[in-house]
Amino acid sequence: MNVFVVNCGSSSLKYQLIDSVSEQVIAKGLCERIGIDGRLTHKPTGKKEVVKEVAMPDHKVAVSYVLEALTDSENGVIKDLSAIDAVGHRIVHGGEKFANSVVINDEVMAAIEECNDLAPLHNPANLIGISACKALMPNVPMVAVFDTAFHQTMPKEAYLYGIPYDYYEQFKVRKYGFHGTSHSFVSKRLLEIIGKENQDSKVIICHLGNGSSVTAVKNGKSVDTSMGFTPLDGLIMGTRSGSIDPAVVQFLANKLERSLDEVITILNKKSGVEGISGVSSDFRDLDAASMEGNERATTALNMFAYRAAQYVGSYVASMNGVDAIAFTAGIGENNSKMRKAICDYLGYLGITINEEANAVRGEEICISTADSKVAVYVIPTNEELAIARETVALVLLFSDQPNPVNTKGTGF
Ligand code: AMP
Repeated sequence: MNVFVVNCGSSSLKYQLIDSVSEQVIAKGLCERIGIDGRLTHKPTGKKEVVKEVAMPDHKVAVSYVLEALTDSENGVIKDLSAIDAVGHRIVHGGEKFANSVVINDEVMAAIEECNDLAPLHNPANLIGISACKALMPNVPMVAVFDTAFHQTMPKEAYLYGIPYDYYEQFKVRKYGFHGTSHSFVSKRLLEIIGKENQDSKVIICHLGNGSSVTAVKNGKSVDTSMGFTPLDGLIMGTRSGSIDPAVVQFLANKLERSLDEVITILNKKSGVEGISGVSSDFRDLDAASMEGNERATTALNMFAYRAAQYVGSYVASMNGVDAIAFTAGIGENNSKMRKAICDYLGYLGITINEEANAVRGEEICISTADSKVAVYVIPTNEELAIARETVALVLLFSDQPNPVNTKGTGF
């Protein structure tokens, strides 16, 4: 089965075409500046990359260029659109409505729209992506895979905020958590590696990238996570502040004579390690600056490690123990110094790191020593493959129905 995986942003569209049997990427690419001017970067596996500057007034036009590129006689990878068997859409927010992936129908689209309030920048773009694909591939089954779904298993004590209960009931103000596809993918793999898929288990996943979050996974289910109502909460990130005292927002609005919206934008876009260091949001730049003696870059890196270790420690307490920890995403997979700095805080758990294994980059590996009390792994994440797997599972599950309708999902 060939699965077209789509990830729509407000002015962008990332895609991959994946062969679900070999799990190989057949082609991938990106449309940028949709609604502004438009650029398509198409990377067919084994063929030359194609970059096209073409007008993309909306997502439907962008999708049409992608489908044209996929079926192009020279640089294409499939003969025609009949070779696309299913489409998997990444959806940022499923609110409390979606605890699993679902086959998309009108009812599902309406329910996603009801969550627009919770992710005003992302969900509308995701819906536009679905409509664009439906218009061009009306008979191809489509599946929605939610960033929030994996965390719907959190207990109330973890997801409620200490604010009047009415606000939860009326407005659904609560912790949702994000990066769910990645946390689910990596935790499943970690449980497979440590042989605890069907046993009592406690693992912690550190998804450390430009956006970062830590998740506690007990018996295969998310029981707490560091991102909250929005992806601004939790760890210090590339440009996001992570958790701060909420009173700071009003204090800064007054001092800077800015609106609350503007301060939240500062916390999202001008804060984090970039805001602290004044250098960059990219950890490679921070490492280089720190090596050259830039103190603020060093402070930013130290803050990141400290906060990550705090979350790991708090989740060990939440679960009353931990069997294994996994690092994933750009920093988690590639930055051995950061992994070591975080693990250095965790000596009290009996964690010891094998420096040689920790120096290996970007591949699945155990980085703890044989006598470490808790096993520590690097496990590369692959959100697109996770979306493709979910899509195939759902499409196969409902393939005997003429019009696949499922609002409950797979229970994955
Ligand atoms: P992500 O959002 O998962 O793409 O992660 C972005 C972060 O990962 C950046 O801060 C990069 O410094 C870091 N990163 C990504 N790739 C590498 C690499 N090959 N080597 C070192 N750091 C990397």
